[in-house]
Amino acid sequence: MRITSVETIPVSIPINPTRAIRGSRGGHTTSPFLLVLLRTDEGVTGLGEVSCTPIWSGEDQVTAAHFVEEIAEPCLVGRDPRDVERLARGLDRALAGNPFTKAGIEMALWDVLGKVAGLPLYRLLGGSVREYVPTKFSVSGVEPERAAEIAAWAVEQGFRAMKVKVGTDPEQDLARVRAVREAIGPDVRLGMDANGGWMPRTAVATIERCAEYDVYFAEQPVPPLGVAWLADVRSRTSVPIVADESVYGPEDAMALARAGAADVLSIYVGKSGGVARARHIAQVAEAAGLTCTVGSNLEMGVASAAMIHLAVATPGVGAEEFPCDILSPFLYEGDLLAEPLDIRAGAARPPERPGLGVELDPEKVDRYRVDR
Ligand SMILES: [Mg+2]
Repeated sequence: MRITSVETIPVSIPINPTRAIRGSRGGHTTSPFLLVLLRTDEGVTGLGEVSCTPIWSGEDQVTAAHFVEEIAEPCLVGRDPRDVERLARGLDRALAGNPFTKAGIEMALWDVLGKVAGLPLYRLLGGSVREYVPTKFSVSGVEPERAAEIAAWAVEQGFRAMKVKVGTDPEQDLARVRAVREAIGPDVRLGMDANGGWMPRTAVATIERCAEYDVYFAEQPVPPLGVAWLADVRSRTSVPIVADESVYGPEDAMALARAGAADVLSIYVGKSGGVARARHIAQVAEAAGLTCTVGSNLEMGVASAAMIHLAVATPGVGAEEFPCDILSPFLYEGDLLAEPLDIRAGAARPPERPGLGVELDPEKVDRYRVDR
């Protein structure tokens, strides 16, 4: 079996403006993503999604399409798509960085392998380690009253866990956390995500003040400038620290573990350059006595499917304690799939069809494609 071509389609689905996520690094109001269609000589096509944004990794749909065409496709054509890890490592040698682009290719390779094997991806990964993936909602870093309304809406949808974006102004952050806690009551679990927006001293003081509102984790309180800043904050606060922007690959996970800089690592299919490397991070975390959650760059349907397969099949993901950010249907005004994923408020389940288990709806793809 051989790869014959790699096609890409730039897409953008509007995000519901009332729930668009605003954090300390700015707003995520559009998703300049790229679909990947990896074709083979046996008529099997693998689907991938590059869920890239400039703010995360310096990638967008233009850079991704360029590197797929100029670097990835020449590496892949003529090769056996079932050699997933081998091809992913070959791509790593051919192109530095660009993890979300690489992840879009890698998930398409898994999709082909699953379709050929007749098994859903989570079974290829060793089968499920949980019945479903517990999920949480993410409340935008807007004015406290507005954040409280969004949080109340999420509870109405059925969410029993959420995080709120902080990391802007400490007083505003505190007011927002208080307003959200008052809106959701004492029984909904609440964390906060600063996206690296605080300096260490502000982080320590603000985390301690927010702890009064029963905040059960603080995600990326300080910028990812080496591990010392996070380690410093963690040593001076009692709330579990989640590392997100600080962990892209297994090497980062190792450095964070050695420095005692985090309790939880937020892994993505995109940030780590694929499903396999996300699992390598989870294995490092497990070996170091840490746990993981699956974080989000607002993936659309194809990449959301990859996230669910990853989370349901990976023992190092502690989704029961730290629910995953699998929430796109609650944010986007449309989707690209022929059949929606089983993503509910608080629970996501993987498709049982082979591979990623999703198919594109050509009419929807036409509606949201943004060819330039
Ligand atoms: Mg985060």
